[in-house]
This record gives sequence, structure tokens and C-alpha cells, in this order.
Amino acid sequence: GREWHLTARPKGWPTPDGFALRETEIPAPGPGEVLVRNLHLSVDPYMRGRMNDVKSYVPPFQLDQPMDGGAVGVVIASEAEGLAVGDHVLHGLGWREYAVVKAEHAARVDPGVAPLSAYLGVLGMPGLTAYAGLLRVAGIKEGDVVFVSGAAGAVGSLVGQIAKLKGASRVIGSAGSDEKVKTLVEEYGFDSAFNYKSGPVAEQLKAAAPDGIDVYFDNVGGDHLEAAIGSLNVHGRAAICGMIAQYNATEPPAAPRNLALVIGKRLRLEGLLVRDHFDLQEQFVTEVGGWLREGKLHYRETAVEGIENALDAFLGLLRGQNSGKMIVSLAH
Ligand code: NDP
Repeated sequence: GREWHLTARPKGWPTPDGFALRETEIPAPGPGEVLVRNLHLSVDPYMRGRMNDVKSYVPPFQLDQPMDGGAVGVVIASEAEGLAVGDHVLHGLGWREYAVVKAEHAARVDPGVAPLSAYLGVLGMPGLTAYAGLLRVAGIKEGDVVFVSGAAGAVGSLVGQIAKLKGASRVIGSAGSDEKVKTLVEEYGFDSAFNYKSGPVAEQLKAAAPDGIDVYFDNVGGDHLEAAIGSLNVHGRAAICGMIAQYNATEPPAAPRNLALVIGKRLRLEGLLVRDHFDLQEQFVTEVGGWLREGKLHYRETAVEGIENALDAFLGLLRGQNSGKMIVSLAH
């Protein structure tokens, strides 16, 4: 089987020369383990942070070792009770074609309920991030005006729609192309959206929300966060989920320069880690699954075919080549 290794730590934007696709023998499962043939791999922005050798909330990737990440696959050999050949599982050993997974690290998923790739997106980690971030961290209330950045991505596209479903009076999104902006309004039902590349974020946000915003869901940081602080109303809340604008930066960002506004407006800015909210999983799957079945929630995936293109998929994600969740599908 083939697997992707990190061979050199990137400085700034990663380039293909710091990675290698290597062939390894397909291992046999030991007691309590299953051998999984991966069908869909996840590439996510947080993986950029794991390429740096710094202490963070997830350990760094090791050089010349397989990278890991979310994956869905089919069990092809089992030495574990409760998991049989043919079962589909979600697990954490992505970036490779075959994985030996401990049964307790594999969650059975049902392809009859949703397409398997959905367990990496709308019904998986990004979906729970959007759900928990809005309900718990931002404390969304009926009538709120909500702004979300990275709005056409896996997390952002769900944030906007869940906000509406939870009674937001107005939802505004920003994204990096006119086509994505159109999708936000026409497909996801955002009230208004703008392309952050077409003009200053602060001006575009003010035009979209002349009376201010109550909630900001941050996926981007930098000038987006500064603009949101400027537009947040008194007692406004911000769920700080990601700051993708600076993941490849070699210098610390200048913005937000207006942080002192937090005082007068009594703003609450709170960081969000999805893993603190796994206790919401059941409620999340029930509610989001229901919205999907009722056609009230829409999602997109951008699928890249083939393990050999997994790195390009990851690099493309950082450049905004995805609409919705970026997935690597392994055709066999
Ligand atoms: P997305 O599907 O949103 O993909 C990333 C998107 O970021 C790209 O499509 C691109 O869209 C946008 N982007 C890239 N560079 C910039 C930039 N300089 N300025 C503005 N937008 C940019 O990824 P996810 O939905 O998986 O993740 C979204 C955010 O949520 C990330 O910041 C991620 O780190 C964070 N996250 C945090 C979690 C947590 O537990 N805290 C869990 C999951 C995700 P465009 O074309 O619009 O530029």
C-alpha cells in the first residue's frame, strides 16, 4: 500500500518537495485490530499546523513517518470482536491506502444512512465544529445577526445554515470567489455574502450589516477578525475556530489592531476546539441528520481522486480550490 510521508518541515507555504508517497507492505492485524482499506481520506487545514515542530493541541507529524488524519474505509481483515469484514469504519489513520486500526479507535458508520464521505464532513468533525461552535461557544439566540468567514468551506457553509435554522435574523458570509459568493446565497440561503478579495473586509461587512452583528464565527483571523470586532454590537460574541489566513505566514499578523474595542463593547471572544464537544455527538447527529433528510441543510464536497493526488488536494484546500469539504477518494 502507499502512504504519504512528511520529509521536510515547510517554512511558509508547503511545496511538494517536502512530501513523499511511499510504498509499504500491507500489515496484518494483531489481536483486537482490523485491517482497513481506506475509501475516503480527509485533508483539513489543521494539518498545516501539524507540519511544524511546535507543541500544540495536536502533536506534530513525525518526519519520514506516515501522516495521519480522518479516513473512512472498509474492513478487509478482522481480529477484533464486534467488527467484521465488510464493515465500514471511521478512524484516524488517513493519508494511506491501508491501515491497521485498533477496534476502539474505529467507529462503525452506515453507508445506508449517508454517503461514506459525509462522515468526514457534514456528519463528521467539521459538522460538529459548526454545530458546537454556534450552539455552545457563540450561544446563538433567536434574532441574532451572524457573520461567518470561510463561509463556503466545510465548517462555514454549515455555520451559516445552522444559524438560520436556529433563528438567526440575518446571516452574512465571506468567501474568496464570486462563484462561492453566489453559492452562499443561492444554495445555502445566506442573506448576504461578499468576496473578501474584491475590497476591504471591514467596508464590505459594514455594507452587509449596517446595524452591526451579534455573532462572529471566525475561520480566518487577520483582517476578518478586525472587521468583525469593528462591527460587533455591545455584548457580541465571537467563536474563534480557525485563523487560516495566517497558517502559512512567516511573520505574525498585524490585525486585529482594534482589540481595545472589546472593552467598551463588552465582547466575548472564545476559542473553540471540537474535541471539547464530543459529548454533543449524539444530539448533533440526530439534529443535523434530521435537517439533511428533510432537505433543510445542503452540503457540498470537492472530491479529488487517487492517493497520488492527496497532497495536491491538501495544497488546493489551503488555496481555496474546494467548495465545501475537500475529500480524497480512493477508487479501487
Ligand atoms: P474549509 O473547507 O473552509 O477550507 C479552507 C478554506 O479557507 C479554503 O477553501 C479557502 O476558501 C479559505 N482560505 C484559505 N486562505 C484564506 C485566506 N487567506 N483568507 C480567507 N480565507 C482563506 O476548511 P474547514 O471548513 O475544514 O476549516 C475551516 C476553519 O476551521 C479553518 O480555519 C480550520 O483550521 C478551522 N477548524 C477548527 C476546528 C477546531 O476545533 N477549532 C475544527 C475544524 C476546523 P476561500 O476560497 O473562501 O478563500
